[in-house]
Amino acid sequence: MQNRRNEQPGRTAEKTPTTPTAPAPKPGRTAGLLRGMKDILPVDQPYWRRVSETVQRLAETHRFERIDTPVLEEAWLFTRGVGKETDIVEKEMFQFVDRSGDSIALRPELTAPVARAYIEHGFVSQPQPVKLYYFCPLFRHDRPQAGRYRQFWQFGFEVIGETHPIIDAQLILIAYQLYQSFNLPVRIQINSIGDSTCRPLYLKALTDYYRSRKNALCEDCKKRLARNPLRLLDCKAEDCRALKVDAPQTVDHLCEDCKNHFVAVLEYLDELEVPYTLNPRIVRGLDYYTRTTFEIWPDDQPEGEPVQELGGGGRYDGLVEQLGGRPTPGIGFASGVERLISLWRERSDASVSGLPVPDVFIAQLGDPARKLCLKLLQALRQNNIIAADCLSKDGIKAQLEAADRIGAKYALIIGQKEIMDGTVLIRDMENGIQEVVDYQKAVVEVAKRLDRGRSNGKMATETTASDAAHSHE
Ligand code: AMP
Repeated sequence: MQNRRNEQPGRTAEKTPTTPTAPAPKPGRTAGLLRGMKDILPVDQPYWRRVSETVQRLAETHRFERIDTPVLEEAWLFTRGVGKETDIVEKEMFQFVDRSGDSIALRPELTAPVARAYIEHGFVSQPQPVKLYYFCPLFRHDRPQAGRYRQFWQFGFEVIGETHPIIDAQLILIAYQLYQSFNLPVRIQINSIGDSTCRPLYLKALTDYYRSRKNALCEDCKKRLARNPLRLLDCKAEDCRALKVDAPQTVDHLCEDCKNHFVAVLEYLDELEVPYTLNPRIVRGLDYYTRTTFEIWPDDQPEGEPVQELGGGGRYDGLVEQLGGRPTPGIGFASGVERLISLWRERSDASVSGLPVPDVFIAQLGDPARKLCLKLLQALRQNNIIAADCLSKDGIKAQLEAADRIGAKYALIIGQKEIMDGTVLIRDMENGIQEVVDYQKAVVEVAKRLDRGRSNGKMATETTASDAAHSHE
């Protein structure tokens, strides 16, 4: 690999640590979240778990392997890979000089890090294409608003090392299926932005069109016209959106190879019955895209309203080479986890539960009973019986109320009498019927009532409970 460090402007210039000094916090202030950040609270976790499990299952079904890359990367990776003139690098990247004087960034996207890993770990010598997926947080110093955070999560799928258009269609199918598993109807918005053969001609046509309408453009787009005209089609400003309607379209300027590729992708999508709309405005904001570009939109996206797309991606046939590797094609997509969860919660009545309902609740009275309960809890859990407790509390009534509140099927009660007799009270929480059982047989008796002895093929043994009892004595 070539020595890319030398290419990084400013890398060696600054060797002194530059920790910016923030104003001293006001005395007596309360700790709070940073702007644009979000806690994922226990009530949210079941939703996150479901998404991550679904992504993993789908990835494995399609034979993708997981990759995790570091949160911090050289800033160069993104200025070079994603492009200096893109919003996520120019305006949104968390970038700083670390204590060794290196220019560092919190990753604002994952395709460039995955391409870096592909080069760095010699994936090129493995059978191609290499299919990788990720599920991780990213960072963009964006203006916080609904559905936009400065730390947010994406899952993404990347296929590196193959140009065939069937790969594009197979990848888009995964994006489609993922939303289907959450009963969220989506439609793929698809376009082709050509390659280095045809894009220059298209860019000329686009620049000519906008040059004569420059005064109507927003300030950002006036700059984009000279530096990165494709991004004019990405602009969300009202006036610029109106101008896009008559702008030249990439698909009318594709070279023969790009046209054939695009037509083939669409044919494969038809075959897979993935619903799509040809959308000439999907150019994506990043420099590395070539040929197929696409976004995932809710199917009921109202015409003409600003879109909060769920995800997007495209081909990046030049990226690996751009980062110092051999010429290697690739394609990928990324989807926002927060947006998926928020749409899913908005559209679905089904609540996803958190902790499983406990099989038993352990209630006790007095310190000697607490100690016995500690052992009993351990024995139950070793036998895969879900047991809850609040051993720090006093008062049987309050403990039974807690058992009721969390829906435990049985309560196991040890009070002074039970200690004297070497027994445990098993209370059926539904009908209130209580039975006295031998302490040493408590686990077996619970397993029997839960029908666990047979159902999981692993009989809860008497020994486990009696071990617990003996070790107490
Ligand atoms: P992008 O990498 O910009 O193409 O974004 C892909 C997806 O990530 C978007 O469709 C969103 O679902 C999600 N996303 C992007 N930026 C943010 C953000 N600031 N906050 C939350 N989700 C985001």
